[in-house]
Amino acid sequence: QTDALMTMPWFGMDIGGTLTKLVYFEPKDITPDEQDREAGILRNIRRYLTKNSAYGKTGHRDTHLQMDNVEIRKRKGSLHFIRFQTTDMGNFLSLAKQKGMAELVTTVCATGGGAFKFEKDFRDQVNMKLAKFDELDTLIKGILFADLQNRTECYFYENASNIVKSVKRAFNFSEPFPFILVNVGSGVSILAVYGPDNYKRISGTSLGGGTFLGLCCLLTGCTTFEEAIQLATKGDNRKVDKLVKDIYGGDYNRFGLPGDLVASSFGQMHITEKRLTVSREDLANATLVTITNNIGSIARMCALNERIDKVVFVGNFLRVNPISMKLLAYAMEFWSNGTMKGLFLEHEGYFGALGCLLQFNG
Ligand code: ADP
Repeated sequence: QTDALMTMPWFGMDIGGTLTKLVYFEPKDITPDEQDREAGILRNIRRYLTKNSAYGKTGHRDTHLQMDNVEIRKRKGSLHFIRFQTTDMGNFLSLAKQKGMAELVTTVCATGGGAFKFEKDFRDQVNMKLAKFDELDTLIKGILFADLQNRTECYFYENASNIVKSVKRAFNFSEPFPFILVNVGSGVSILAVYGPDNYKRISGTSLGGGTFLGLCCLLTGCTTFEEAIQLATKGDNRKVDKLVKDIYGGDYNRFGLPGDLVASSFGQMHITEKRLTVSREDLANATLVTITNNIGSIARMCALNERIDKVVFVGNFLRVNPISMKLLAYAMEFWSNGTMKGLFLEHEGYFGALGCLLQFNG
């Protein structure tokens, strides 16, 4: 058992199109004997990663997501969740070098497209090999593990059909299969999951979180995801979109379409006067609603095709983004007459990295 310390630190890394996610296992059951043998560099890495919550300009540890009393490969400890922009990979590599990580770590478990793209940089700059795992395999492994560890991992929105009244509630996800999994990262992947090792990728769309952020930066001049979400929170898409009632003067009763439904996203923006009165906040909100509803609609068709009633949404697009989560929950419930349920998970963007850490050494 003590030999485990020799192979530490335990990391899992998911190098995505926008964000790199790092999950670090901090052993908490170190015996005095092990403490004596713990190498200086390893101790430094452990202290550095667990004392700070900000690493340089871009790195950030999500302390609210930390998981304690976790058992992995017979060791007890805490899981730490860290993210940085993939464009800052160069800084991360110099930091790893500076902290002496390169001397200690020979292989890093990595997933995501960046595990391929940056393989050579890891080898040349810090002499580390990447043990590569498939991002969808690790995504599912991470989800199932997190849900076992944390009873409040999964949640849904009660009264989803009324967005003003909908409230977050824990969902018992102990019998998860089958479920539709919608991973909203830079782009979107949709899977049908039938068992721990039985799934297929059924669809996807390039209109994802990256599209929201990109369009929002173009339309409002904002520069970060947090800013985009803040603007969206104060805006009103109805000043930008053309609604059913803008066309019908009310509901389109024959097919049960309520007047407040968006008939055409951005459909008012060809009218000069409307364009002049619209605010950055309205544009941000309309962009968020457009992207979210499109994802909701594709997810629902996938669920219908597969005859599956649970639709789980993950990915960092949902970070600090209750507007989208409530809209997705509403879309699942409303358009299925209450037969489908939208579900969400607390560690939203970290499952690929977590699954990767679990693959380490077997
Ligand atoms: P990927 O693996 O493609 O990077 P993620 O699941 O990490 O996917 O999600 C990336 C998306 O998350 C972005 O396109 C953006 O919409 C959203 N996002 C959330 N937080 C941030 C952030 N701090 N910086 C950039 N994008 C963020």
